[in-house]
Amino acid sequence: MKTVQTINELQNFLDSNKGKSIGFVPTMGYLHEGHLALLTKAREQNDIVVSSIFVNPAQFGPNEDLDRYPRDIEHDTELATKAGIDVLFVPPVNEMYPSESGITIHAGELSTKLCGESRPGHFDGVLKVITKLFHLIQPTKAYFGQKDAQQLAIIETFVKAYNFPVQIERVSTVREADGLAKSSRNVFLSEKERAEAIHLYKGLTISTEIWRETKDISLAISEGKRYIEQNTSGKIDYLEALAYPNLQSDFNHAEQILFATAVFFENARLIDNIIVDVKGV
Ligand code: AMP
Repeated sequence: MKTVQTINELQNFLDSNKGKSIGFVPTMGYLHEGHLALLTKAREQNDIVVSSIFVNPAQFGPNEDLDRYPRDIEHDTELATKAGIDVLFVPPVNEMYPSESGITIHAGELSTKLCGESRPGHFDGVLKVITKLFHLIQPTKAYFGQKDAQQLAIIETFVKAYNFPVQIERVSTVREADGLAKSSRNVFLSEKERAEAIHLYKGLTISTEIWRETKDISLAISEGKRYIEQNTSGKIDYLEALAYPNLQSDFNHAEQILFATAVFFENARLIDNIIVDVKGV
């Protein structure tokens, strides 16, 4: 596996592999089995695999965890090598953003809900870096985790609306044995919080079960919230159900419903979700 830091080196590599299908996995590093699932799928489905590690300042708000976001490039390199990746692109910030053009991308209505409410500008920053990476790499397929369901919905919508020649591949959420969704931010949990954090998924499961049985969405939401409140010391940012992937609250034509939650712990804000198929329920 080759590690490159500059756009020039990346492009030289891509030029010498013209005509091959490219699988691309964008990440912020501190890789775990969740990322590995994306890398493995990309490896299976493409001639070459490019992954990026870039803690993108554009998607962090002023009071968020940009400066303390966990990093471990040695471990990441080891894991990416084991996954059979061809190129790891690890650009410094001034390589990605050498100057400000003053031209911005707005994620629009989809970014006003769920995480967008407490993270204004976050999804604009995600689209900024993704647009640049897609143009630089020109992947055949790009891989995103369902763990970040709103991000996935926004990227799928963006790519379709603006005719990016890339196929977006969804990858299911990878969990710890006790159900906690794997996340780079789990290292910020205290021992007590780590034990409590399993209740996000349990709360979501309760919501989806109540919805399946009663089709009463407000009862499903309130019971899920009550469970999380009673079983964690965290503060619920939201627990909501929206049609997926259009993120509307009208479920009439929905094929899937997203049950999503975000909970603030002392040093980490955790997110999780369950997507249920409406048909056949
Ligand atoms: P991040 O490094 O947090 O930006 O994540 C990079 C990619 O990995 C995103 O597409 C995430 O949705 C995905 N990802 C992160 N955690 C998981 C997980 N537990 N299961 C599946 N995909 C994940």
